[in-house]
Amino acid sequence: MNSIIEIERLKKSFGDNLVLKDISMNVNKGEVVTIIGASGSGKSTFLRCINLLETPTDGKIMYQGENVLAPGYNLPKYRTHLGMVFQSFNLFNNMNVLQNCMSGQVTVLGRKEEEAKKIAIENLEKVGMDRFIDAKPAQLSGGQKQRVAIARALSMDPEVMLFDEPTSALDPEMVGDVLRIMKKLAESGLTMVIVTHEMAFAKEVSDRVIFMDQGVIAEEGSPEDIFGNPKEARTKEFLHRVL
Ligand code: ADP
Ligand code: MG
Repeated sequence: MNSIIEIERLKKSFGDNLVLKDISMNVNKGEVVTIIGASGSGKSTFLRCINLLETPTDGKIMYQGENVLAPGYNLPKYRTHLGMVFQSFNLFNNMNVLQNCMSGQVTVLGRKEEEAKKIAIENLEKVGMDRFIDAKPAQLSGGQKQRVAIARALSMDPEVMLFDEPTSALDPEMVGDVLRIMKKLAESGLTMVIVTHEMAFAKEVSDRVIFMDQGVIAEEGSPEDIFGNPKEARTKEFLHRVL
């Protein structure tokens, strides 16, 4: 297997609250991994540790075979390889759609304005938001904002995209649009790690499903295994509650 990210024995505590307890997981190139689990089980903290928005308390994160927590490792560069899409969009509200998709390319990657603009527009076309380049986030619906957030992340040419419940804050009629775009990205071979409550979507797009419970990976497997033939009592119990 061709691992992009290898996580070994990751732990994270906030004060004396041990939120992630010894998590090990690999992400392989081109793989779509979904993470499911109850609220409070540590899913967001796990994603935030992967891109080091949170500093792990213990354990190792290897990217392309290198330990990203080693002293002197180029963290700003590492972060550019990981695109993140949040539940709450996190667009820059003072910038229009085009500027949102260009600014990181120019300031972080050092691309020229013209090139950044071309790449931004290509990605906005992919998510069907190219007609809105002059709009400010406040003028957009939640679903439109999330599509722009996806285009912004893609414009940085990430190796891996991390999604933290990208449809949880959306009105129901907008969820489908965003999921369709994510499905297209998955089919294009993009490596994705997705925290989601959309079980039908997880079943459809995942190569592997991880069920988290109280800070551990309680069970992982193919979507057929996890949804069709779960082994652990707590997986069964969770699925029974949400399906
Ligand atoms: P999930 O995304 O599965 O709902 P989270 O990772 O958000 O779970 O939260 C897991 C636990 O970690 C919760 O008990 C939450 O209160 C705690 N937690 C998350 N972030 C912080 C933080 N910044 N400071 C303190 N506790 C936190
Ligand atoms: Mg969360």
